[in-house]
Amino acid sequence: MVIKHVALDIVCGITSKLPQNEVPEIAFAGKSNVGKSSLINALMNRKALARTSSSPGKTQTINFYNINHEMFLVDLPGYGYAKVSQSVKEQWGKLIERYLHESKQLKAVFLLIDIRHDPSANDKIMYDWIVHNGYKPIIIATKADKLKRSQIPKHVKAVKEGLKLLPGTKVIPFSAQTKQGREEIWALAEELLFG
Ligand code: GDP
Repeated sequence: MVIKHVALDIVCGITSKLPQNEVPEIAFAGKSNVGKSSLINALMNRKALARTSSSPGKTQTINFYNINHEMFLVDLPGYGYAKVSQSVKEQWGKLIERYLHESKQLKAVFLLIDIRHDPSANDKIMYDWIVHNGYKPIIIATKADKLKRSQIPKHVKAVKEGLKLLPGTKVIPFSAQTKQGREEIWALAEELLFG
């Protein structure tokens, strides 16, 4: 994908009406701090358009990034953020659920899991939710640079087993530092979006 134009076009909060876009969307889900902003910035060739967790009090919204006026990268709120109340967590959950359920343009969902850790109960819930909504998520195993190359297959296997992935589900190791996996993710996204 040659990135010619990128802009944060639409930001939706918990009470917002979701957009009825005319171009296809791909969405990214994952728990807070998994490396979602870093991945989205890497995909867009931008250093800091998507916010990273270090920004304090990061508001939780669904952000739609316009790519070349031909698609949107959709940044879903990170879940499992420890410092918020249960009721706020539930509202974020409902926002994500509403989006998965209502979007008519969503063509692919990527779920991010930190390659070093076994998936959490929330990761499993998110995976099942995506499947339940009729999507076949692609797993991105983030921060792959933190492992030796030889350790990667073992960790990919742990992710597969932890989420009980459906047979044939892809797991792509990715690093925002080395950009390992970036081309594969774009190739898959383009195939799913444009055939
Ligand atoms: P988000 O909360 O999911 O958006 O996560 P961020 O993208 O803000 O990343 C959380 C932290 O992990 C930050 O300190 C990033 O610098 C770090 N991080 C993200 N991706 C990578 C990666 O691929 N490799 C390494 N080593 N660190 C990463």
